[in-house]
Amino acid sequence: MSQVTTLSSPIAPGAWLGMIGGGQLGRMFCFAAQAMGYRVAVLDPDPTSPAGSVADKHLRAAYTDEAALTELARLSAAVSTEFENVPAASLDFLARTTFVSPAGRCVAIAQDRIAEKRFISSCGVPVAPYLAIESAEALAALTDSELNAVLPGILKTARLGYDGKGQVRVATADAAREAYAALGAVPCVLEKRLPLKFEVSALIARGANGATAVYALAQNTHQNGVLSLTVVPAPDATPALVGEAQQAATRIAEALGYVGVLCVEFFVLEDGSLVANEMAPRPHNSGHYTVDACAASQFEQQVRAMTGMPLGDTRQHSPAVMLNILGDVWFAGSGSTGSAPPASVGDMTPVTPPWHEVAAIAAARLHLYGKEEARPGRKMGHINFTAATLDEACTAARECARLLRISLD
Ligand code: ATP
Ligand code: MG
Repeated sequence: MSQVTTLSSPIAPGAWLGMIGGGQLGRMFCFAAQAMGYRVAVLDPDPTSPAGSVADKHLRAAYTDEAALTELARLSAAVSTEFENVPAASLDFLARTTFVSPAGRCVAIAQDRIAEKRFISSCGVPVAPYLAIESAEALAALTDSELNAVLPGILKTARLGYDGKGQVRVATADAAREAYAALGAVPCVLEKRLPLKFEVSALIARGANGATAVYALAQNTHQNGVLSLTVVPAPDATPALVGEAQQAATRIAEALGYVGVLCVEFFVLEDGSLVANEMAPRPHNSGHYTVDACAASQFEQQVRAMTGMPLGDTRQHSPAVMLNILGDVWFAGSGSTGSAPPASVGDMTPVTPPWHEVAAIAAARLHLYGKEEARPGRKMGHINFTAATLDEACTAARECARLLRISLD
């Protein structure tokens, strides 16, 4: 078995840090690391990746490219990831010679919904009733009544799903069988559709010394399976629920021996009970508010955890709302003058959104990821709203959503 490099002493600013994945999470990691005086090497095959373009060095290669991984390990005092679908084998390869957090074994669990649900349950944290369907034979062996126990449900591919992709809603046993074939007969979970009152996420950082730092609980609204709005502190959560979610996330991080930033998504059911949905072994979209509203952001915590620095202060100094900006906004005919005919997604002519009007909203902080092409459904940026009260931040977010023609219903 290959060795795993541990962190023997803290890594001081000036050193190079490695980041696998060049998306927006990697970009915001670069900003945090560079602000603290570290230099960052990003590994990502895309020449125009959001993180690659702000990194001190961009290694343009596949995540499995051994020469690039060797170069990344040589350069970097420690390596982290921004994307859970990085092959765990690549993390294990890097860990032979450099400190990697989170570890490949933690990422491997989060990459597979079956392993993830089993792990979360083993921590005493409830998950939705589900059936693991690892093969066509396994499905064929399930009776209608066994399937009916988790119906109506959602069939989700065990691997590589994100933003609601790789998911089909099914109401009957036959529909589940058809959907399984349509998803390519790959390993899946069939999960019971639960009556959700609302959704929350618990964000936690854990250091190599076992210290943990927990953020306020975030309340999330999704549109078409994609996060749309995050409000913090979660307005509908009771103090008991906040404690329960934070303790569950802490138990999971500790049981994993996790080092880094971890986010656990939960459903709150109509009866007030808490059910874990999934976890992300990295900073999370619902934690973007921390950049403008907390003493130390989730990205700074990622830097601190991987360098063995003490974790930062998670204190929220301002109520916050985060509004996601998808590429749809470029095709919504937004603009306050009303003089231009609205562009339709059909004609695919992107129109630059009225950023100057967004900038005029005192509560708003605009974050765009530098992606060259706006496409419907593509995460292009987000706006954080901070104000003296949560009501004011929510009002500003609603005003801005109207301006950008983002539906929040
Ligand atoms: P993301 O990458 O945005 O987290 P994902 O593809 O991993 O998305 P999930 O988190 O499993 O997908 O589901 C996306 C959303 O669909 C959830 O946030 C929730 O709103 C809804 N959803 C998923 N599973 C269930 C369920 N069992 N019952 C009710 N709603 C569900
Ligand atoms: Mg999710």
